[in-house]
Amino acid sequence: MMDHQHIADALKARMAQLSERVERLEEDLRQPLDRDFAEQATGTEASDANEALEGASRAEIAQIRAALGRIEDGTYGICVTCGESIAPARLEALPFAQHCIDCARGR
Ligand SMILES: [Zn+2]
Repeated sequence: MMDHQHIADALKARMAQLSERVERLEEDLRQPLDRDFAEQATGTEASDANEALEGASRAEIAQIRAALGRIEDGTYGICVTCGESIAPARLEALPFAQHCIDCARGR
């Protein structure tokens, strides 16, 4: 069985970073918009961008959680569609990949 401990460590570190970012973004989003009109407009645009970033961060956290779960139950690195091993180079580039390159390409 392959040892994925170093991948698990890297994923956990990445997840901690993302959680911190989500917390910061949530704090920013809670700031009341009580400045004058012009500033309020830019404030709204900024919080739209923050919300998008928060959503992307949450999505990545969910993918990392799933990958950590697969490492734990020993199915990590196995394509969920065809059951073949996912190439190590692909896992390195995309640690939470669930599909081998062929299935990802829609073979
Ligand atoms: Zn596959």
